[in-house]
Amino acid sequence: MRGNAARKTGGADLYTRIGHFLADHGLSPEPSHYSFAYDVIADPQGAIAQAVRRLTDGGIRLSRSDIEALGGTVQDDDAAILVAKTQAQVDGFATMMREMQDETRGFGRDLAQSAAAIRHTAPTLPAAGLDEIARITGAMLTRIREAEVRLAKATDEAEALRMKLAEANDSARRDPLTGLRNRRAFDEAFANRRESDGPFCLAVCDIDRFKRINDKHGHPVGDRVLSAVAKMLADLCASHLVVRHGGEEFAVLFNGITLADAAAHLDTVRDAIAGKRFRLRESDTPLGQITVSVGVTAVHTGETITDAFDRADRLLYTAKAEGRDRVCAA
Ligand code: GH3
Ligand code: MG
Ligand code: MG
Repeated sequence: MRGNAARKTGGADLYTRIGHFLADHGLSPEPSHYSFAYDVIADPQGAIAQAVRRLTDGGIRLSRSDIEALGGTVQDDDAAILVAKTQAQVDGFATMMREMQDETRGFGRDLAQSAAAIRHTAPTLPAAGLDEIARITGAMLTRIREAEVRLAKATDEAEALRMKLAEANDSARRDPLTGLRNRRAFDEAFANRRESDGPFCLAVCDIDRFKRINDKHGHPVGDRVLSAVAKMLADLCASHLVVRHGGEEFAVLFNGITLADAAAHLDTVRDAIAGKRFRLRESDTPLGQITVSVGVTAVHTGETITDAFDRADRLLYTAKAEGRDRVCAA
């Protein structure tokens, strides 16, 4: 078990050794390298650690290609998975830190109590002997307190790193323009859905003739319209997952409602968007009516996102072909 293996190596020690490992091999402190070093150090008998020992026999440094060949966690193609993995490791690391702090605190307390007990029960000891015990225990207590301060600092650093990773993890799943979650988050939510929580419906909503808005008013205005529509969709479908799937297209994963109810709800959303009077912020000039077309379908048990999405996309196409500003469901 990784947790047990990690615990055996000790928290602060592990932290330092990961740093030394990175420095020894000239590896930058990026999450993939941190994660690799963790695998090597936390599980010294593991396959990766053994392979590293073989490769580095004779003081040779590891190269990036070595790490990749070892099946290390250099996964540039999927940074989000790496971030999630590293976050889990740092979580475990911070927990270890807290456990060690508790232990050293307990040790310090025991030591202080023992010293007091010796003073109390051995009044016949020569004064010089007592002074020596007091000096040694005092010095040990000071060192323990210093170690506690260092541990607290290291814990704070690990927590800060954990928070940064959590932020990175979130931003990998969020669209910066609208603040909505993105296609990656949608794919994951779809893949992780529990059939028992169903039924599920998948909708694709596309802004009608959006290119015209850009052409007429410029890209920045187009961006603001996108954000405004995104906000309306998210607010009006608050209990379901609304994402910006790409461009001027949004996807909704409805959970726990039938197709008929999802379609009826989407029609009220469509109506609300069509009824909103969008205006240019600077001049108050009306932008004209903004509408959306929607395709929505029931997700079948066990089907892939590609199949469900394609069906919703075809329904969206039908809605466009039939004149836009409408919802097509099937
Ligand atoms: P339709 O009703 O058939 O959907 O017409 P449309 O004009 O909305 O569709 P089309 O696919 O022709 O154009 C989509 C436009 O959306 C083109 C693209 O420049 C614009 N767009 C995509 N992403 C953004 C963005 O982030 N900001 C802005 N301002 N425009 C974007
Ligand atoms: Mg469009
Ligand atoms: Mg489109």
